[in-house]
Amino acid sequence: MKLRKKILVTAAATLAVTAPTLAVVNTVAPAATADAAGIPTSGLPVLKQGATGNAVKAIQAAVGTGVDGSYGPKTVAAVKAFQKSKGLSADGVTGPKTWDKALGVVRYGSKGTAVKALQGRLGLQVDGNFGPKTKASVINFQRTNGLSADGVVGPATWSKLLRGSSGGSGGSGGSGGGSGSCPNPRNFANGKLPSSALVAVPGNSKEQMSCTLLKDYTAMNNAFKAAHGGRDITVNDGYRSLARQQYFWDCYKTKKCNSGNLAARPGTSNHGWGRAFDVGRDGRDWLHRNAGKYGFVFDVSSESWHMTYKR
Ligand SMILES: [Zn+2]
Repeated sequence: MKLRKKILVTAAATLAVTAPTLAVVNTVAPAATADAAGIPTSGLPVLKQGATGNAVKAIQAAVGTGVDGSYGPKTVAAVKAFQKSKGLSADGVTGPKTWDKALGVVRYGSKGTAVKALQGRLGLQVDGNFGPKTKASVINFQRTNGLSADGVVGPATWSKLLRGSSGGSGGSGGSGGGSGSCPNPRNFANGKLPSSALVAVPGNSKEQMSCTLLKDYTAMNNAFKAAHGGRDITVNDGYRSLARQQYFWDCYKTKKCNSGNLAARPGTSNHGWGRAFDVGRDGRDWLHRNAGKYGFVFDVSSESWHMTYKR
């Protein structure tokens, strides 16, 4: 039985590289308890200091440093330590060899580094155990990204999970891994996003948001409509230019306009990244209960209307 099991695992690892659908793997392989190889890493972004985005979150979680999506000195140091522990040359740059040690095919029951990378990328608690919450989040991600929603994270799902990053500056080989015509808002200054980085908020003719949110926001709005007789989410304020944020900041300071509501210092607001929304009263309770499934959270306790995208 021991030998038989070993053969099955080997067969599964081979399948993971070549099989177009990973459902096959799911039926023959026992739940992986360690990191499995089998993710082609040549197409993944090369990350170095200054890089930002989804792939950065994944490597940060994998190497056990704080997950903020920004590849700074602490991330470089943590990647170096990780590389050393895996017998790689410790240059602090996340390239194919480092990805190979950090990623793997994972599914319900899996444990280890690749699960941590997955959880960091999905904005979940990073504990390295692929449990029900991780599975639900993976299936939701697969659904909203046109993938087969089987809850198994193989090459196709990893590829989509790690899009939407900029590779960082300096050196060669930083192949970026940007997501086509939709740039990461962090490539620009807060409140200074070009029109190429913005899209209209679905169901709203006046407000804009970062194009990177489109899939998750659309999925959320569709679910909202289904629960509210076809009405869209009401958004009173989405993306804010720097000048508009200055207006709100002045109101907050003087208490003479906008009800003196709390406002972030100009240049720091999530509205300036196109990632925050002030929603209307219609269906707000529904959003408080359900927005988290799509990556949106109500993160200012004194402002029940302020919703931020956190993926
Ligand atoms: Zn707000």
